[in-house]
Amino acid sequence: MLRPAAPQRSQLALGTTTITYLPDGFATLDPGTFFPGADWSAHPGHIHDGSLVLSFGSFLIRMPDRNILVDLAVGNADTDLPGVGHMQGGLLLDNLAGERLSRDDIDTVVYTHLHQDHVRWTTDASPFASTPRTPTDLTFRRARHLVSEREWQHWSDPSTTGGPDRDLILEPLTGAIEFVQDGNTIAPGVDVLSLPGHTPGHIGITVRDPASSAPQSVLIVCDVLHSTAQISDPALAFATDTDRAQARAAREHVLAHPASVIAAGHFTGAVFGRVTGERPL
Ligand SMILES: [Zn+2]
Repeated sequence: MLRPAAPQRSQLALGTTTITYLPDGFATLDPGTFFPGADWSAHPGHIHDGSLVLSFGSFLIRMPDRNILVDLAVGNADTDLPGVGHMQGGLLLDNLAGERLSRDDIDTVVYTHLHQDHVRWTTDASPFASTPRTPTDLTFRRARHLVSEREWQHWSDPSTTGGPDRDLILEPLTGAIEFVQDGNTIAPGVDVLSLPGHTPGHIGITVRDPASSAPQSVLIVCDVLHSTAQISDPALAFATDTDRAQARAAREHVLAHPASVIAAGHFTGAVFGRVTGERPL
């Protein structure tokens, strides 16, 4: 099967703050499985050879004295998802080096949520069976690691399934993880916005130029949006949305802020964009 090229690095600047998308990989997925009931004939550019393409990556927020990573992507993966697709990753650290940064230069990691495609660079250990499953130190050992308390408690519950690997992700983070909530400031101009629905404690990150009173901002929405098709149709649910009504409300909320540039790490091609014009009801 012809596969699309990996997504590209892209960057925006707000004063002396830059927001850079660092690709890690991508997945080709069965659209009917991941967007049940969607009519893709209205969005023909989203399907390649019958598959929906989703990017994986991290956002680097770089300030004169800070280096913040938003999410830790999918890690070293080249994996068939039986019956539903294929995923591959592993580019993040190389792309970080391309920014002339090492893992020890990262002072803050913030997770928008703890689904597996957002946490796998937490440690060096690969979660895939063909490679050793040895718990290791945190990859970004000098960084604070932040997540919403609601999110952490949800996935820490032993009865919850479908979340991060307990041995390779949750256990190494225990003792290091710190909690943030709606309205918290992570760094000057970098704030937490609660956007639950995809997962119970999902957050977004707003970025502004701390030296400017201008309204421009970048809103990292993460998994509030998986496809640009959800901009014209916010009712379009993703299969792993835990609360579909709440996830739709989160989409409506972020799309109601046209002054913001939206950053959505799963989009194919361009991950930054501004919502303009009339949207169909
Ligand atoms: Zn995701």
